[in-house]
Amino acid sequence: MIPTPNLSHLTAKDFERVYEPAEDTFLLLDALENDAEDLKSSRPLICLEIGSGSGCVSAFIGTILGPSSALYLCTDINTHACQCTVATGRQNKVCLESVGTYLDRSLHTRLKHCVDLLIFNPPYVPTDSVEAESAQSSPAIASAWAGGINGMELTNTFLKLAPELLAPQGRFYLVAVKENNIPRILAAMLNEYDLAGKVVLQRRAGREHLHILRFEKQ
Ligand code: SAM
Repeated sequence: MIPTPNLSHLTAKDFERVYEPAEDTFLLLDALENDAEDLKSSRPLICLEIGSGSGCVSAFIGTILGPSSALYLCTDINTHACQCTVATGRQNKVCLESVGTYLDRSLHTRLKHCVDLLIFNPPYVPTDSVEAESAQSSPAIASAWAGGINGMELTNTFLKLAPELLAPQGRFYLVAVKENNIPRILAAMLNEYDLAGKVVLQRRAGREHLHILRFEKQ
């Protein structure tokens, strides 16, 4: 059993501004734990988490792979989340490099075809577009969940970028809910980018039916 990262350094005040790990986060940790042996044997060198929030997921990856076995890059649009990510890395003895940017914007060109392990737990809750756009334009806690039409507005933007980031043997974990239309996501990634994916874990949590999708380069 791989321990859940220690987040005792983060306070209720931090979680007023930064997404507090919840069922979606923990389902993602479970999927990564299930794949732990496989992940270790594939020896990823560059890991990139988009929207790292508290840093819990990347700290967990660092625990699985070893703190100095890979470069752990994280991005978030919320600068307070970037600070929490770095602090969580320190607390868990994993060096998390945090970049405040929109998705992978400031890194994309340099990381093309270099990312061995890519992770995104996006804002996936269906809202109207105005709410999603305003959350993105002044990033605070709402940017953690407001996903626009079908909860897919930001995810769709990133799904166009992800295939180009992945290294030849790279893999990509994505969190989604039923309302995001998972069969459509899987079909689009296969048909448009030749990127095969499947649901590796799913769980109901209150009103949400959470899924973890894993895509792998052929
Ligand atoms: N990864 C964390 C976890 O699993 O607990 C947080 C997930 S939370 C559902 C989504 C995260 O994405 C938030 O931290 C939010 O600030 C971040 N985010 C939202 N829009 C973003 C964007 N355009 N670029 C980068 N990060 C973004």
